[in-house]
Amino acid sequence: MKTKAAIRGLPVYQPGKPLEEVKRELGLSQVIKLASNENPFGSSKNVWNALLEERESLALYPEGQAPALRSELAAHLGVAEERLIFGNGSDEIIQMIARTFLEPESESVMADITFPRYETQVRIEGSRPVAVPLINGVHDLEAMADAVNERTRIVWLCNPNNPTGTYFSESELRRFLNRVPEHVLVVVDEAYYEYVTAEDYPDTLALAKTDPRLIVLRTFSKIYGLAAFRIGYAVAHPSIVTELDRVREPFNANRLAQRAALAALRDQDFVQHCRDANRQGLKEIEIQLDRWGLSWFPSQSNFLMLDTGRSSDEVFQCLLKRGIIVRSGSALGYPTHIRVTVGRPEQNRQFLEGLAACLDKPGFIA
Ligand SMILES: *Cc1c(COP(=O)(O)O)cnc(C)c1O
Repeated sequence: MKTKAAIRGLPVYQPGKPLEEVKRELGLSQVIKLASNENPFGSSKNVWNALLEERESLALYPEGQAPALRSELAAHLGVAEERLIFGNGSDEIIQMIARTFLEPESESVMADITFPRYETQVRIEGSRPVAVPLINGVHDLEAMADAVNERTRIVWLCNPNNPTGTYFSESELRRFLNRVPEHVLVVVDEAYYEYVTAEDYPDTLALAKTDPRLIVLRTFSKIYGLAAFRIGYAVAHPSIVTELDRVREPFNANRLAQRAALAALRDQDFVQHCRDANRQGLKEIEIQLDRWGLSWFPSQSNFLMLDTGRSSDEVFQCLLKRGIIVRSGSALGYPTHIRVTVGRPEQNRQFLEGLAACLDKPGFIA
């Protein structure tokens, strides 16, 4: 059987190690997963009740346009309903964008290193990824604008960037948009938007109202704690939403996901609690890393990328034996870094104790 040329040699996505697998393989009963930037506080209690109400309707297809969620989310964000499109996770929207706008001979500009799904989807369409190195973990927007040419269809920006957690500001984005020609779409992936506290972080929804080139990606998988349901969305110009709708699977955002997202959206107290706890957790981890003289990238997200000064795979394995799953930087292009998701306070302490043991650092004192 012959596959299409574009997918030959394409890597298969490597997820964080699943909790169940680690328990099974290492015979551990207590394992904490700080590898996939999932919400350590779970999700809003509203979600469970909403799901129970939905149980009468399991035999029915969902409404493809997600009208109830669309209307409340539009009001929550202050955008027109026709600017929204939903996906089976924002992952699927990345796929839909690539499918709609890319073809062979075209190019896409993205950071090196960033979220790997942009490159994969670009390659599947037979289009060419052009990767522009980060500077100290931060998008080099000037060099990315330089990399744009007449073949460029999309620039993919990840803000805050996964895996470094760093961000670029509103003024940097404005300067970039001024330099990028009209024919280029600019996708800004804001999967960690709700965790951001920086005051000069871009207001992309406001920018998108006057700039039809902007597509903003957000998700219910991170701060809303609904990763299992697979639901994300994009805010874009209505004409772009119309084009994306042509390739969208008719029932891509499923009934339970729509209902869960609506319930989660209504509990902004939970979101606020998670944002505050995350800020505190980050601070606690950073202070300890500073005491040990370890460097890290300043994070606006719910994870931290830190330099262990050793082989990241060895540190990963050492932490794993102690029942702590993090992400090894080696697979992400940082051979001495690990990426750790900020957990609940006791999980953060357990991580720091484990790290102290693995790096022979003086014990962690809370
Ligand atoms: C987690 C993540 C996503 C994927 O989110 P889903 O909505 O679960 O598909 C997209 N972009 C970035 C940068 C992420 O970290």
